[in-house]
Amino acid sequence: MALDNLRDLYQQVILERYKKPRNRGKANPIDRYQKGHNPSCGDTIELTVQLNALGDRIEDVKFEGEGCAIALASADLMADALRGKTTAEALEMVQRFQSMMRGEAEFPQELRKLNVMQGVAQFPVRIKCANLSWHTLKAALESSEAAQPAAVSNE
Ligand code: ZN
Repeated sequence: MALDNLRDLYQQVILERYKKPRNRGKANPIDRYQKGHNPSCGDTIELTVQLNALGDRIEDVKFEGEGCAIALASADLMADALRGKTTAEALEMVQRFQSMMRGEAEFPQELRKLNVMQGVAQFPVRIKCANLSWHTLKAALESSEAAQPAAVSNE
């Protein structure tokens, strides 16, 4: 596929997810809660995570918040990709996403939707928008309870 077509496809997926997110709302019950803020753009998301009884697998991820199309589409795609993953796998995915945004990695075939965000890596000011939900997820998984900790900032 020509690069221009690929870029159009990426933009299309991002806009579609922004307009019709599939994972907006709150997980129920809420086992992890984390708010994240991206001051360079003004994006704010609140992530809620439902874990299994052992607390080592993600049952559900939902988000609420306000922000640009890239930040919200990224959160929506992330939530889809995380369902059913262990918390260890999720933390690996955070690293993988961040290296993808630096142009160093791609997601494997079964997670290829996440590669959509690669298109954003061409616009350095937008990388923080795409990273916000992943950065927030990491903080959520590394906290040990659903108590509301201070917002993390990816500045
Ligand atoms: Zn943004």
